[in-house]
Amino acid sequence: MSDADTLSKLSRINDKYQMFNDFCRDGELGDAKFLFSVKDNLTSAEYETCAGSRILEGYRPVFDATCIAKLKAEGGKLIGKANMDEFGFGTFSTNSGFGIPRNPFDLSRSCGGSSGGSACAAAVIDDHISLGVSTGGSICCPASFCGTYGIVPSYGRVSRYGLIDYGNSLDKIGILAMDPKQMTKYLPVIAGKDKEDPTSCVQPELKITHKKMKSVAVPREAVEGIAKDVLDAFNKALEDLRSMGIDVEYVDMPELKYAMPAYYILATSEASTNLARYVGMRYGQQEGDLTLGFDDYFTSFRTQYFGDEAKRRILLGTYTRMEGFRDRYYAKALQVRMVVIDAYKKVFADHDAVLTPTMPFVSPKFDDISRMTPVESYKADFLTVPPNLAGTPHLNCPCGYNADGMPIGMQFVTDHWNEDQLLTMAEEWDKQFEIRKAEVSL
Ligand code: GLN
Repeated sequence: MSDADTLSKLSRINDKYQMFNDFCRDGELGDAKFLFSVKDNLTSAEYETCAGSRILEGYRPVFDATCIAKLKAEGGKLIGKANMDEFGFGTFSTNSGFGIPRNPFDLSRSCGGSSGGSACAAAVIDDHISLGVSTGGSICCPASFCGTYGIVPSYGRVSRYGLIDYGNSLDKIGILAMDPKQMTKYLPVIAGKDKEDPTSCVQPELKITHKKMKSVAVPREAVEGIAKDVLDAFNKALEDLRSMGIDVEYVDMPELKYAMPAYYILATSEASTNLARYVGMRYGQQEGDLTLGFDDYFTSFRTQYFGDEAKRRILLGTYTRMEGFRDRYYAKALQVRMVVIDAYKKVFADHDAVLTPTMPFVSPKFDDISRMTPVESYKADFLTVPPNLAGTPHLNCPCGYNADGMPIGMQFVTDHWNEDQLLTMAEEWDKQFEIRKAEVSL
């Protein structure tokens, strides 16, 4: 296919699925070895970077995020900036300021969030990898809803330089792809110490030794309250894992249920400070009544351009950090975080991984999402939040499809720095699982 044909196809795919905010519309693909896209909260010099927020509309950074620069150095061509929930705040990508990406298996359903556009791109573009970012589940959730693989490395494994922060102690850049071999190939490319990000990896280099998993632990708490179609597919996957020679054992992890409330305190606390920089002076939008005093300009600007969910999180996060409340909420949540980490460490003493369904239900329809309360949508993250809070690497593997053909995913979690076993698991699983590719009729 000529470059012009490839790009015109890309544009038609985007019209249908709305997975990109900005993308490559013309020009040459040159001698690119591979094409990739990234979530729109990763800064790129070639395209606008808005992180799903109207407040950043028109923002054109002057540099590429480290992960983008590394993929380019490897011969990759960045073709799109993937649509997402505003600043990563959401589970369905419905909180974007720029349209809503559509699920490749059913246009009336969500791609998941907040890296919904990335999952969609990985699902509908041939041979594609897309970078996503997970703070509390934003890679595994959309990977599960769109039927792709998705890996989130350990916190610190990939430099966050050039990432528009949601929660600095939680944000992790990872990869979504239909072919797990692509994740094995490109995760080592984007991994490693970066002098621009002091929290980036001080551990040994990521080595792929193809170490196989021998035993997985399934927490009993994680299979309560799961929709029947998801549970049926998950149980069938457990049988398949056993037939692959993997020991599957049920364990108790009662601590998991504390992760979600602790996460929403820590994540919003961090987010509310991060969003303080958007005041209509440095980045993106700068319209407003310049005759106003600073506080009034600032307030009118933020009132106009932040979406509802961003405002909700600023309020919540400011409250949890307030003098007098800080010990009760923020400091307590930090303690809970340690409890969750300890709970994982205990299980990892005897098992290679913790395995759960990824999401409690298949991708919902937009109509149903619009009826959910914020707390109901936060609750949907109860299985993806714990490893994010712990900073442990985790993986979504597609593991089945329900009667409507909607994908179902399972989530493996391993100990810190052990991405090797996750990638190997994904490749082994892929050898025997019949993954379905969404039909892209244009
Ligand atoms: N759904 C979660 C939230 O809204 C996780 C989002 C994320 O990982 N960016 O915070």
